[in-house]
Amino acid sequence: MKTRTRFAPSPTGYLHVGAMRTALFAWLLARQDGGKFILRLEDTDQKREVSGADEHIMKSLKALGLQYDEGPDADGDFGPYRQSERLEIYQEWAKKLVEKGRAYADPYTSAEVQSFREQAQKSKKPFLYRNHRPKTPPTWDDSTPLRLKSDPKSYTWTDAVMGKLHSGPEVIDDIILIKSDGFPTYNFAHIIDDLLMECTHVIRGQEFTASTPNYLNIYEALEITPPILATVPPILGPGGNKKLSKRDGAKDILEYIEDGILPAALINFIASLGWNDGTEQELFSVDELIQKFSLDRVQRSGAQFDDRRLLWMNGGHIRAMDIDTLYEKVAAYWSASAATADEEYKKQVLALTQERLKLFSELPMLTNFFFEDLPVDMTLITEHKQLKKLEQEELKKLLSDAKQTLDASDFTAPDIQERLNTLLETSGQKPAVLFSLIRIATTWAPFSPSLAETLEVIGREKAMSRLENSLNSLN
Ligand code: GLU
Repeated sequence: MKTRTRFAPSPTGYLHVGAMRTALFAWLLARQDGGKFILRLEDTDQKREVSGADEHIMKSLKALGLQYDEGPDADGDFGPYRQSERLEIYQEWAKKLVEKGRAYADPYTSAEVQSFREQAQKSKKPFLYRNHRPKTPPTWDDSTPLRLKSDPKSYTWTDAVMGKLHSGPEVIDDIILIKSDGFPTYNFAHIIDDLLMECTHVIRGQEFTASTPNYLNIYEALEITPPILATVPPILGPGGNKKLSKRDGAKDILEYIEDGILPAALINFIASLGWNDGTEQELFSVDELIQKFSLDRVQRSGAQFDDRRLLWMNGGHIRAMDIDTLYEKVAAYWSASAATADEEYKKQVLALTQERLKLFSELPMLTNFFFEDLPVDMTLITEHKQLKKLEQEELKKLLSDAKQTLDASDFTAPDIQERLNTLLETSGQKPAVLFSLIRIATTWAPFSPSLAETLEVIGREKAMSRLENSLNSLN
C-alpha cells in the first residue's frame, strides 16, 4: 500500500514553523514512494477560527512547494477536505458507536459536572467523567454532547519517533466525541477522517501524546487499526530551554519568503529542526531530502530554532545556484540604479556577490556601488580601525600612487592584483591599510567583494574617476 499522509491544520492563525515541519515531514514521506499528500482543514472549532487563515495555509504550502495532491482546492476522491463540510459523516459514525453501546448522550448540566469535579477534589482523587456515567442515558439528540463509553485499560504502543510508550487505565475517560453544537471534537473527527481518507501515517506534535491512549480506545471501539503514529519533538527557542514563541523572531512562513529566503533553504532549515541523516551534512536539496528523510532519524528531544542558521543555509543554497538561475531569481531585488545596466554587467556583479549574498533583499546594499557613485562618506576612513591612524597626507600619497599604477593596468583582475601587490611592497603598508583605502575610495561602500575583481568589474573609467574624486575630497 502506498503512503498517504495528511497535514491537518486548524485555520486559527498564522502558519508557524512547527506546523510547517509536520507538513514537510508528511510531504517528504508521501513523495518517497509516489504516495499522496493530503491537506485537510480541521475547522470544527468555529470560535477559534480566523477568517482568511485557510487561504493563508494553502498559499503558504504552495509557496514552499509542498503541493498537496488532495485538498479543499485540489483533486481527490476522499473529500470534502474541510471538516465543517463532513458533519453528516461524523454523525453517522457516532451513531454506529451508540448502536454498539460504546457512546452515550451526556445528560449533565455544566453545574452538575462542576460539582462532580469539586467532589473529586475534596476526596483528593482525579476527576474522571466515567465515574459518573448515567445508568440510563437519554436518547442522543442535538441538544447534548455525545461521549465515548470508554474501556479503561493499559496500553503499550509504538510511536515511529518516540519508540515504545505506555499508559495506565487511569488516563482513559469518557471523552466527548460530538459537542452539543453538533460539531465533532478533534479527538473524534481526526480518527474518522484518517480512516476514511486511508491515511497511513499521523505525524503531529507532542501535545497529542497525552490523549493518544484515549484515541487508541476509540480505534478499538470502532474495531479499526490505527495508522502509524509519529510524534515530532518540540521546537525550542534559541536559548534551548523554552518552547519557540513569536518573540524569538520566528516568523510566518510567507514572511520568510517575502524577505528573500529561498523555499528550498526554508525546507532545508525546517527539516533540520529535529532531523538529520546521521552524517555531518547540513545543506540538502529538496530532492536529497526526499531521498534521505526517514522517521526513525527524527530525534526525540527538542530541536533548537536559530534564525542565523536559516540565513546561513540560505547563503548555502544561493552559492549552490548556477549564475543564470540566480540571475532570474533576484530579478526583482536590484537597486533602482541597476535598471539601465545591461544583463552581462549585472551577471558579472552577481557572480562576484554570490559568495556573500545571504538574503536577496540585501542585494541593493551589496551591489549599488557597481551602478552608481555613492556619496563620499569620510567616516568610513575616520572610523576605520587602521585608516584612522594615518595622516591626511599619507592617505593622499597612497591614493595617488594607487591611481598611477592602476591607470597603467589593463584592468584585468590578475594584472590589478599584481600591481596592488607591488604597491604593497613599495609603500611598506599592511594590506588592511592599503587595500581598505583603495576599496573605500573606489566604492564608498561599507563592504565589497575582493578588491581586484571589484575593480575589474567597475572598469577603468569609473575606478579612475572615483579615485580622482576621492583625492579631491581628501584635499
Ligand atoms: N488540527 C490539529 C492541529 O492543528 C491537527 C493535529 C493532527 O495532525 O492530527 O494541531
